[in-house]
Amino acid sequence: MNATLKSRSGFFPARTTYEHLSFCSEDITQGSLILVNSHHPMQTSPEAFDLIDLNSQQRDLLSPHPGKFENQLSHLEHPIEEVYLQKQAATMLFSLIKKAHAGGAITAVSGYRSKAQQLSIWEDTISREGTDFTEKYVARPGCSEHQTGLAIDLAKAAPSIDYICPAFPREGVIASFCNLAPQFGFVLRYPSGKEAITQIGYEPWHFRYVGFPHSVIMTDRQMVLEEYLEMLEAETSPLKPLTYTQDGARIDIIYLSMKNRQKIEVDFSDVLPHTLSGTNKSGIVLTRFRRS
Ligand SMILES: [Zn+2]
Repeated sequence: MNATLKSRSGFFPARTTYEHLSFCSEDITQGSLILVNSHHPMQTSPEAFDLIDLNSQQRDLLSPHPGKFENQLSHLEHPIEEVYLQKQAATMLFSLIKKAHAGGAITAVSGYRSKAQQLSIWEDTISREGTDFTEKYVARPGCSEHQTGLAIDLAKAAPSIDYICPAFPREGVIASFCNLAPQFGFVLRYPSGKEAITQIGYEPWHFRYVGFPHSVIMTDRQMVLEEYLEMLEAETSPLKPLTYTQDGARIDIIYLSMKNRQKIEVDFSDVLPHTLSGTNKSGIVLTRFRRS
């Protein structure tokens, strides 16, 4: 075992190079693995994100606004031409589209939304489609993944696009896009068969950036984010990471509980690159990368 929770005395063997990490309760509410759903509303403010406009950055890759949108929402603060994502998610999305040779075949329909925009969509959809449809396909204001800046609705480029339920048929380059998505950190967030857990209908158009290798593990194990975080919480710790290996890299994934704690400190007997994400529940996920 190469990890120990720091002892009260702070004693470590001589000549050991170790890594000391400390985390605070604010870390819970941000990062690529945060869970936002009807039970876990968004807690951070949008100003905390580094958002970029997909369409203004990459007109050669995406096919922005190729025609008219059906279900055009009159109250939207920003029209369709502006679709924002967090920078890391945007960069990986462009790499994924290039790798799938899907340039020009995909339109970004909806990315980051403010709580006010989500409220507009909620109210507008209720007035157009009724309550049952809205509750199936539209998240309540405050509880939408789109408020994270990590979720994107995509459509096959076409003369007219349905804003609420865009067509994204899994064929041709779009099938390649879907198959490659996990390697680039994306998951299909609301798959068929998981409606009882996600409480959202099957949405073939809605992708969520959770980061690699979490995206690959979730896809391989057919777990949605709710299930994946529960598994990490139940089965991992600094002494018992979930280990993922690919192409000579070994990646350790560790859940750290912040329940009733403002701060947590962890020490490892080796120094490694790592990423950190809150869960927006009561803990954080630490991911450590090593070459085997
Ligand atoms: Zn969506």
